[in-house]
Amino acid sequence: MKIGTKVIHGGLSPDPATGAIMTPIYQTTTYHQPRPGEHQGYEYSRSKNPTRDALEKNLAAIENGKYGLCFGSGMAAIDAILKLLNPGDEVISTGDLYGGSYRLFTQVFEKFGIKFHFTEMNDFSKLDALVNEKTKLVWVETPTNPMLNLIDLNKAAHFAKKHNCLLGVDNTFASPYLQNPLDFGADIVMHSATKYLGGHSDVVMGALVVNDEKLAEKLYFIQNSSGAICGPMDAFLVLRGIKTLHIRMQRHCENGEKVAEFLNNHSAIDNMYWPGLVNHPNHEIAKSQMRGFGGMVSFNTIDDNYDAAKKIVSNVKVFSLAESLGGVESLCGHPASMTHAAIPKEEREKNGIKDSLIRLSIGIEDAEDLIADLKQAIEL
Ligand SMILES: *Cc1c(COP(=O)(O)O)cnc(C)c1O
Repeated sequence: MKIGTKVIHGGLSPDPATGAIMTPIYQTTTYHQPRPGEHQGYEYSRSKNPTRDALEKNLAAIENGKYGLCFGSGMAAIDAILKLLNPGDEVISTGDLYGGSYRLFTQVFEKFGIKFHFTEMNDFSKLDALVNEKTKLVWVETPTNPMLNLIDLNKAAHFAKKHNCLLGVDNTFASPYLQNPLDFGADIVMHSATKYLGGHSDVVMGALVVNDEKLAEKLYFIQNSSGAICGPMDAFLVLRGIKTLHIRMQRHCENGEKVAEFLNNHSAIDNMYWPGLVNHPNHEIAKSQMRGFGGMVSFNTIDDNYDAAKKIVSNVKVFSLAESLGGVESLCGHPASMTHAAIPKEEREKNGIKDSLIRLSIGIEDAEDLIADLKQAIEL
């Protein structure tokens, strides 16, 4: 099955109880048992719910994996992965990563005795210097947020296997339409389903997909024990969102390209970051592991001008200044004061996140309107 068919049918079948074509919202906490210990696979909705079940199967199908697990948010999904670890274990992570992940690592899990190393991952000599027998997880975001750097997934998987640790990949920015990390040897793929999977900025959710049965069992044990599950209504919304993932992503990519070209040629703009540009430092990696270059575009104003950046994000009219990404509507953000404010300035700038950086989530509106909007805000 190809992706356009999988998003609609993958892992799904008509509702066995009623024949409903669309998965019903099973808004129930509990299920009748005719006799103690006898039930139809469902006992209590923290453990298992038919709507969530359908979504988990669908997610597994579109990520080319066997097992899907959904959580109340992307952070709850990462939290579940970290609970696989024990005190004393170590994690090597990309330095340029989602601010909330950085916060969870350094401010929540470090105090439980887990050690995190942040590094530039395409230089594998740096990884070699950090890895030791305590390293249990390699954590990768590609493309990264907000600098849109890419990590070579083949190489990262090879490194993780060689050192006997798990490779987890945050695939939020690419979505399963553009990239399937399990195909390159990753052990766990993670999504903030809040973004492209939901696709309409109306639900917060996280997801994991894995291939290994034992790993799936451990994660299910954590999901059920810690209980950070999503509700059935949210599962329904994400199932509905996924049905148009392929169409939306095509338009996000087309619009991303047009906006990137416009900004790349504008004299007030410096340093464009979009992996589809031939002069992007990781363009070759992008071509080797992604099926398109996505709708996330970051850029600096010329001369690193913070006031110019502030002016642009304050004067856009079609774009909205807001956190988040991946919805049908275009958003712009200022990472230094918004999504990445949790990362100390020094740490941020090491990864290129200057105060003049603007991040765009290009929606699926008409590209001409998006470009005209950016033009008026830049030239005001
Ligand atoms: C938003 C985001 C997260 C966190 O997901 P939530 O659903 O907001 O908890 C993690 N990683 C990336 C790359 C994100 O964009």
